[in-house]
Amino acid sequence: MSGLIITKNHAKSLSKSQNLFNLARKVIPSGVSSPVRYSEPYPFYVKKAQGSSIWDEDGNHYTDFCNGYGALLLGHRRKEIISAVKKQLEIGTLYGTPTSLEIELSKLIIKNYPSIQKVRLVNSGSEATMTAIRLARGFTKKKKIIKFEGCYHGSHESMLVKAGSGSAHSGISISDGVPEDFSKNTIVAQYNNIEQLESVITKNKDIAGVIVEPILANMGLVLPQKNYLKEMRKITKQHDIPLIFDEIVTGFRLGVGGAQKYFGITPDITTLGKALSNGFVISAVGGRRDIMDQLAPNGKVYEASTFAGNPISVVAGISSIKTMTALKNKIYPKLEEHCNVLSRTISELADDMRIPNQLNHISSMFQIFFSDSPVIDYKTSKKSDTKKFHKFFHHLLKQGIFIPPSQFETAFFSYSHTPDDIEKTIDAYRHALKMVKN
Ligand SMILES: *Cc1c(COP(=O)(O)O)cnc(C)c1O
Repeated sequence: MSGLIITKNHAKSLSKSQNLFNLARKVIPSGVSSPVRYSEPYPFYVKKAQGSSIWDEDGNHYTDFCNGYGALLLGHRRKEIISAVKKQLEIGTLYGTPTSLEIELSKLIIKNYPSIQKVRLVNSGSEATMTAIRLARGFTKKKKIIKFEGCYHGSHESMLVKAGSGSAHSGISISDGVPEDFSKNTIVAQYNNIEQLESVITKNKDIAGVIVEPILANMGLVLPQKNYLKEMRKITKQHDIPLIFDEIVTGFRLGVGGAQKYFGITPDITTLGKALSNGFVISAVGGRRDIMDQLAPNGKVYEASTFAGNPISVVAGISSIKTMTALKNKIYPKLEEHCNVLSRTISELADDMRIPNQLNHISSMFQIFFSDSPVIDYKTSKKSDTKKFHKFFHHLLKQGIFIPPSQFETAFFSYSHTPDDIEKTIDAYRHALKMVKN
């Protein structure tokens, strides 16, 4: 394939990206550091970013709706965060002993998440959910974890599972290298199906916890039906089962207080990541004091990391939360308004062109599905036309709009998008829709 892609208005050369990908494949498995970054025929290679913009190695400009898979709520290189990090770089990057900064960040998290009484800082979201699950098991002395089909909670053994034949079965791993001994302790239930959850919980006495993305952002975007989360909370409470809200996407994104504030639910354990630091490496697991106090060294649930609480990530977290809190009355209404306008417009455009579509959106998150039927869970999400989505993604990219390259991801606004960006994006969607019409 030649590196030159020509469209009606644009001619983009991607020859440098293509060459870099060929080099990458020789030294990096599949050429990428994380699977979703690969897209046919090759991903574009980024040179730099600012605000809502990304530039690739060939000098092309893109308006970013991937935003680090939701991490960059404030946009690329938000000034307060960059200057806080620069200051910290001058005095140290890793000490191997505690700092007052960790207390400051933990207090800021606790203040915004009343369900969290104590919090431990970790590096990645995968570590946070791994620890949350270990805590639930250590606390209850039980084995099984219920997760929901289509929810993503990181890349560790017990979460890399899909439903067996029929729903609410012991999970089957989606990855080689995970013995059945691990996956059999994860029960996979159907999202938005409260009766099924209730029946699984009533039948099984060995449930250590229920983990859920309150808004499912890893199966495209799927919203909880009315009262679904409330009912989930009620049933888990009745049975004394810790409820884990995986708010790695929704935390600080649906509002400073995340999905739990938005829906008025108090989970027992919460995981945070992504927007917590607006683009630095940090995640957190927090929750009820009696559960969190199980952690070593005082407790018997082990979790540890060399880089946890490193001052660079921690000052980024502090500065992010302070900025998001100070500007919350501007940030969240603006994000929602922009997202509403874009989502409504795209959906109308698609309807006008008689393209079967479902547009799910909430707050600053949106995704279009090429499907006839409402997308409410894994099965209905899977019904959508992924081939069409793939073409659609490339038509957007050619016009300088970058959304995640998969139907089963979510697009994200950042606070840095301007009305101009949105106009340009609507034009690009209009054109891309035309191109995939048949
Ligand atoms: C991204 C994500 C994770 C994993 O976080 P990493 O930092 O990639 O390990 C876990 N849960 C949810 C809901 C996520 O979106």
